[in-house]
Amino acid sequence: MKFVDEYRDPALAERLVTAIRQLVTHQWTIMEVCGGQTHSIMKYGIDQLLPSEVVLLHGPGCPVCVTPVEILDKAFEIANRPEVTFCSFGDMLRVPGSHGDLLSAKAAGADVRIVYSPLDAVKFAQAHPDRQVVFLAVGFETTAPANALAVDQAARLQLKNFTVLVSHVLVPPAIEAILAAPGNQVQGFLAAGHVCTVMGSTEYEPIARKYCVPIVVTGFEPVDILQGVYMVVKQLEEGRSEVENQYSRSVRSEGNRPAQALIEKVFRVIPRKWRGIGEIPASGLGLREEYSAFDAELRFNVAGNVVEESQDCISGLILQGRKKPPDCPAFGTLCTPEQPLGATMVSSEGACAAYYRYARGR
Ligand code: SF4
Repeated sequence: MKFVDEYRDPALAERLVTAIRQLVTHQWTIMEVCGGQTHSIMKYGIDQLLPSEVVLLHGPGCPVCVTPVEILDKAFEIANRPEVTFCSFGDMLRVPGSHGDLLSAKAAGADVRIVYSPLDAVKFAQAHPDRQVVFLAVGFETTAPANALAVDQAARLQLKNFTVLVSHVLVPPAIEAILAAPGNQVQGFLAAGHVCTVMGSTEYEPIARKYCVPIVVTGFEPVDILQGVYMVVKQLEEGRSEVENQYSRSVRSEGNRPAQALIEKVFRVIPRKWRGIGEIPASGLGLREEYSAFDAELRFNVAGNVVEESQDCISGLILQGRKKPPDCPAFGTLCTPEQPLGATMVSSEGACAAYYRYARGR
């Protein structure tokens, strides 16, 4: 399979659905980890094509959704300083914090800019030594190499006016937290193909063994997802719990070693708070001591700020697969993409946004 049409081929999709129907003899609950997979499932109605025995739950793999409110509040506070040019990917601008979002800060006069790469922020800092340039470095293992590269580049250039506000999270500890939680229902996972392109698939093997769950590294197109579901169901029906790779056109078991080395050089593993979920041990990345001069929390003295999250939004339960967006009383009424109460309604990878966009009429 080389071109996108092949991944959306209705005849191939139908054959996979038939194969899943023929295979399944029990009730199985499978979680797709990534929000991009959730959007594909809702957009193409994959959940409706599957036999009723196979239930899909949506996982925590939406970087915008899991960034904690206190990071957004720190971003808001730093962005409002007159000496700061605050740079971010566009999808973080409308995520609500306690006092507003970055877009409202921009509307009120803060110098907030959308960039397409953290290296653009480094270039801006180089060209504007009179400005303090801050980049909001969030996301999973997929965005960590580019953010590490930006910090390393700034160090090599000896920039004194570039820092990053870091909120990186890691997938395997989140999967373990879901499996270890009392009342867990998830019996198999579709792991996120892009994360594994960077990190490889071997780090999932101890998890598959310890919790006896199949984990299939899966892509994002409809045929990818159906094939991933088929592979998980086949393992479950055969009583196997292995790590398999559906996304072999991109993922190697060892991953991208140079990218991993860059992450390792700049970041260290730390406990990290996840929005709506709370702190998960060893689930995030923070800057190493050698790069602390590039830490925006230290530069702007906001490291100690702690925020209680609102109880009205149940996105934490949705991100753990315990509820689905229509279970939220605010879904589609008090909370819409235009007036979002939670990040899962804002993000292009959020489960609430996926249901609002593709499944409201069901
Ligand atoms: S619908 Fe809105 S309030 Fe409800 S869980 Fe989703 S983002 Fe939160």
